[in-house]
Amino acid sequence: MAKVTPHAGGNHKPKLGQNFLVDQDAMQRIVDALGDISATTVVEIGPGEAALTELLARRAGRLIAVELDRVLAASLRMKFAPLTNVEILEADILAVDLRTVLGQTPGPLRDLRPTGLFKAHVVGNLPYYITSDILLKLFTAAPRINLLVAMVQKEVADRVAAAPGSRDYGLLSATAQMYGRAEKLFELGPESFDPPPTVKSAVFRMSMAPRFDELQVDEAGFIAFLKIMFAQKRKTVSNNLKLAYPKNVVAAALQAAEIVPATRAEAIPLEEMARLYRALPRPEAAERKLP
Ligand code: SAM
Repeated sequence: MAKVTPHAGGNHKPKLGQNFLVDQDAMQRIVDALGDISATTVVEIGPGEAALTELLARRAGRLIAVELDRVLAASLRMKFAPLTNVEILEADILAVDLRTVLGQTPGPLRDLRPTGLFKAHVVGNLPYYITSDILLKLFTAAPRINLLVAMVQKEVADRVAAAPGSRDYGLLSATAQMYGRAEKLFELGPESFDPPPTVKSAVFRMSMAPRFDELQVDEAGFIAFLKIMFAQKRKTVSNNLKLAYPKNVVAAALQAAEIVPATRAEAIPLEEMARLYRALPRPEAAERKLP
């Protein structure tokens, strides 16, 4: 049975998704899921009252914790002031430029900078009101991230880790899996948090390894294409594609990619999706229909 510690604060801001983890077993398991981080830079999203931060600070080579709540950020800064490996950033994670935080920024001076690009681990019990935005931001920063361990709403973890053809597979699964391999680690009930959220939670781990080069597709175009493919979940790929391409173009591409027109997007593995995308004209060349 997981040991639960009472939440010390009492003040919380529901608008900021402040459901603090009080299950010590879960804290340990989340930090353990990062592996050996003694020589690693770890970015923590939403440290809150330091449930994970205390463990991370002891283990990480360098810890950058990003907290939006001014009061919490100030108290974290005081708490960790004696530790030289910990930085508290009072900021909105969605506004933070991860390239600046994690290494070189592109620009004319990039080759003159002494430090090389390094990759970080990212961890967080995410604020659920902006989970998708945070995940999308982290995916596009994938070249600078090695490993992501995140607590999210259970359904989100199920979707991120779902295999093609399974009930939970959809746009989020396909998008996430273009950026890395995800596995769901464990679930937690509302009682593991204070105050308890209204939903179940789960932790997933993702090793970042973008697949765009391997599948010979460009990132922006292919991510936009996935949105078209999953535009209406109940429709066939043929019908979804017809929202964006002329009928004859769709038929020819499906044939070239050897995909049956009546297939639904959730049944198509990413390799086949990429084959289909490559068989279609690039958006600027296609006679696009207005939706
Ligand atoms: N890590 C702590 C824990 O496990 O108990 C707190 C997790 S709580 C679910 C989410 C945290 O994210 C809160 O501390 C909240 O203030 C913070 N937060 C909310 N929105 C944020 C944002 N846009 N950027 C950074 N932190 C944010």
